[in-house]
Amino acid sequence: MSFQSLGLNSQLVENVSSLGFEQPTPVQQQAIPEILAGHDVLAGAQTGTGKTAAFGLPLLHRLLEGNGTVTEAKQVKALILTPTRELAQQVFDSLSGYAKDTELKVAVAYGGTSMKVQVKALESGVDVLVATPGRLLDHAHVRTVDLSKISYLVLDEADRMLDMGFIDDIKRILKRMHVERQTAFFSATFGKQVKKLAYDILDDPKLIEV
Ligand code: AMP
Repeated sequence: MSFQSLGLNSQLVENVSSLGFEQPTPVQQQAIPEILAGHDVLAGAQTGTGKTAAFGLPLLHRLLEGNGTVTEAKQVKALILTPTRELAQQVFDSLSGYAKDTELKVAVAYGGTSMKVQVKALESGVDVLVATPGRLLDHAHVRTVDLSKISYLVLDEADRMLDMGFIDDIKRILKRMHVERQTAFFSATFGKQVKKLAYDILDDPKLIEV
């Protein structure tokens, strides 16, 4: 199986190929077609399995094709929540590489760094925002991000987000989001609290295990 045969946008295929990805990993083979088809997914995947591209590539593809996205140009359309600043930066770096030479703008927002710089970036127009939950809420409060306009949500390392006590922040974020969004939920483990959150926020998800 190739990235091309998964039906991905040719610029995205070119970008991953120049990153040296020869073929999709198992989680990518399973998740990419489901997300491209518009389904919610619930995926069990550890770091190192290629999970970032498993949600990132189909998300970028759907944004490039304009599928189900809000048409307001300067509006964040896809949100990726991560538990830590380090992971946010890492996911941002990966997505920036996958989105190279496309019109899509990717940005990252986490605490401990200037709000001002992030506000400026967001005001100039961002399609995909990678953020930690607390800082994302800060942006929602000052209205640099309108959560109700977001069409795609990814929870990356959901179990770690819950372990770190982000459940209330996540609930606050979800409350402001539109129910008609597409959601991908990635977690390495599925304890009781993780499962409950998944089933509360996903709509008829496709299950992916690697
Ligand atoms: P992740 O699980 O998303 O943190 O990815 C782990 C590492 O695998 C990262 O360094 C990726 O750049 C790399 N990677 C992801 N997908 C592929 C692929 N299909 N082929 C080769 N390397 C990949």
